[in-house]
Amino acid sequence: MGMKIKKGDKIQVICGKSRGKTGAVLAVKKEEERIVVEGVNMIRRHTKPRRKGEKGQIIEKNAPLALSNVVLICPKCTKPTKVMYFIDEAKRKFRQCKKCKAMIS
Ligand SMILES: [Zn+2]
Repeated sequence: MGMKIKKGDKIQVICGKSRGKTGAVLAVKKEEERIVVEGVNMIRRHTKPRRKGEKGQIIEKNAPLALSNVVLICPKCTKPTKVMYFIDEAKRKFRQCKKCKAMIS
């Protein structure tokens, strides 16, 4: 089965501490069923100084989210939606918005 969310999609988080946030998908980790979303689920990492005299740093990083925690924002109707699959006569598979029925590439 293909992934219903792809890199570059806009999504909305539907549960967890980031609920309601939206952002663009930066990466899809297919095996783990997780995605990385721009500006969502930021974590702070403290890095230790590597050399004497260097200061430790705080780096903000996008932590991956479970795919089940997000829904696609349809590029046509701009609503958060579940994705359906549509298979045409040539057996090509498309993603389809459940709300407006638009085909999504
Ligand atoms: Zn739509």
